[in-house]
Amino acid sequence: MSILIVGSTALDSIKTPKAENPRLLGGSASYASVAASFFTPVNMVGVVGDDFPKKYVELYRRHQIDLEGLQIVPGKTFHWSGEYEVNMNNRRTLATELGVFETFNPVLPKSYQRSPYVLLANIAPALQLHVLDQMKKPRFVVADTMDLWLNIALKDLLRLLKRVDGLVLNDSEARQLTQEDNVVVAAQKIHKLGPAYVIVKKGEHGAILSSPKGTFICPAYPLKKVVDPTGAGDSFVGAMMGCLAGGTGSFESRLRQAMIFGSVTASFCCEGFGLTRLATVTDKEIDRRAKELVAMTSW
Ligand code: AMP
Repeated sequence: MSILIVGSTALDSIKTPKAENPRLLGGSASYASVAASFFTPVNMVGVVGDDFPKKYVELYRRHQIDLEGLQIVPGKTFHWSGEYEVNMNNRRTLATELGVFETFNPVLPKSYQRSPYVLLANIAPALQLHVLDQMKKPRFVVADTMDLWLNIALKDLLRLLKRVDGLVLNDSEARQLTQEDNVVVAAQKIHKLGPAYVIVKKGEHGAILSSPKGTFICPAYPLKKVVDPTGAGDSFVGAMMGCLAGGTGSFESRLRQAMIFGSVTASFCCEGFGLTRLATVTDKEIDRRAKELVAMTSW
């Protein structure tokens, strides 16, 4: 079953204490789509400028990502740059140059409008709403977000929450959205805003799902070395949605399994700059790591 992913498609310049890499393929939709592609066919919607390197279009193609919804328009591709502190968790944004993203109008090709699974990856909530307006009866819609939208577009975000099945956000965003320090209570408060499924990401400490069937704790795969965590959250939710769309069994057990696969897929993302590691990972490596992670939490 195919999945629709809408989000940012970017060129990222990333600085860590050890290295600096300019103009890597980035953006929430890029990470999420590559991650989802290991599990199910992906239809991606985004916008890039005419400076977007052909090798990145090839990378999408190698992952069989359908690009009918990718707009290539005159102008500069969205450029984001960030710098990590020594702990590789804290990062600060150095620059955000919107380029063609400033006037992005996500238009869904007709064949995408009936996608049963929809991931509204991180973009302005007004655009996420615009995508939903074009959908015909999706089965399961999940939105991702970031602190920027909590700060500058809270009204739109609250409108969006009334219309999605699931929300994925990190722990500090959950606290900011609900004014509640305890993330378990914060998740309960988010249910009241609309989504029946709330996933709170806690970085290297994994993620918590709060659903109508209860709570599920998903650990992060313990990595010895993190090269670049950019896009780990997008990879997590992309793989999770791809796995969910491609899986069988009861919804809740598929969702829990999908979180485990999301977690291990995100771990590969952290092992290289940008998408360099994730784009070369194999199904076998993902499966092996998922088994390891499950074994690490069993007795
Ligand atoms: P993450 O590490 O999961 O927060 O995702 C990082 C990605 O988010 C980078 O590839 C950026 O290009 C992208 N990004 C940064 N700022 C924005 C924004 N304002 N809207 C959409 N995507 C963004």
